[in-house]
Amino acid sequence: MTTSHMHCRQLTDFGQSLEARTRALPEPKGEEVLLRVTGAGVCHSDLHIVEGGYDLGQGRSLSFRERIRFPLTLGHETAGDVIALGPEARGVAPGDSVLAYPWIGCGHCPVCRAGQENLCLKPDFIGVNRDGGYADHILVPSARYLVDITGLNPARAAPLTCSGLTTYSALRKFGARLETVPTVIMGAGGLGLMALALMQRMGAADAIVVEPDARRRQAALDAGASAALDPNDENAAQAIRKAVDGQLLSVLDLVGSTASLTLALDLLDKGGQVVVVGLMGGDINLSIPYLPMRALSICGSYNGNLSELQALVELVRKTGLPELPVACRPLHEAQAALDDLRSGKVVGRIVLTPHEGE
Ligand SMILES: [Zn+2]
Ligand SMILES: [Zn+2]
Repeated sequence: MTTSHMHCRQLTDFGQSLEARTRALPEPKGEEVLLRVTGAGVCHSDLHIVEGGYDLGQGRSLSFRERIRFPLTLGHETAGDVIALGPEARGVAPGDSVLAYPWIGCGHCPVCRAGQENLCLKPDFIGVNRDGGYADHILVPSARYLVDITGLNPARAAPLTCSGLTTYSALRKFGARLETVPTVIMGAGGLGLMALALMQRMGAADAIVVEPDARRRQAALDAGASAALDPNDENAAQAIRKAVDGQLLSVLDLVGSTASLTLALDLLDKGGQVVVVGLMGGDINLSIPYLPMRALSICGSYNGNLSELQALVELVRKTGLPELPVACRPLHEAQAALDDLRSGKVVGRIVLTPHEGE
């Protein structure tokens, strides 16, 4: 190793701008692995971390105050090259190009032992509970969380760990139905475009996108949606049903707002399922008899597990990386990237590439 320091962009408290910091380059101990960051995706949930919580509706909010320790280097969509290994790290070698699976749990509870670390009650998530990828280097606690991406473009592969995995895991919850009936997708931001790209690779039936922003609707059509409709149109529900042209059984709600989930539940036919991923916030008024009478399923999906990330990387190895708009920006533009994301200016994904141009 030639460098002795690393640079990162850290959050020092909720509501603050990121600070540029220089720290000693950590030396990996035990099973730890040190990566040189080759891509760090800027995700919408980073904005929630900066803001300090989620809107739960009815004036309530879910605060991150108890969960997050400052300073924190954000960034949970990280690709990197292995540059140093702890003495007990196995399965990777210096020079390997990898993704860091970020949704790490305690490793000991029944949920973790069943391979569902993303659902652990004591999360140690990269970029949330431990330092993440808005940096030129990152320390990963074990080589077991690294997924080989040799031969894939790391900046384009980085978003697979969150937006890719989140949509992949959610789409898999529709089971065989994904291939046999159309899926209605609420929202065509980064996750929506990722869902469209993955659906093609998974052999899914038609996708009908519901999105208020005209530019994003066009992006969805360009990404393969069979129709893209505005939920604010007067006859939106009717137009969506017409576009589905048959039983409406699957809705993927990537918005997760009062309006999107209310519309989703209105739209579903008997036996239908909505998978909610979005965290826009709010609450809904639900007539309970409709649940049994219409045999509806409301299912939440929260990122995904390590084996799903491995399966997703296998899938893109066979079928190609999702061709999503990716804008690479240097590390010092991390705050500007968050600001652009907050203002809704971003189509696709911003990925920080700290070593580009070196
Ligand atoms: Zn994310
Ligand atoms: Zn656990």
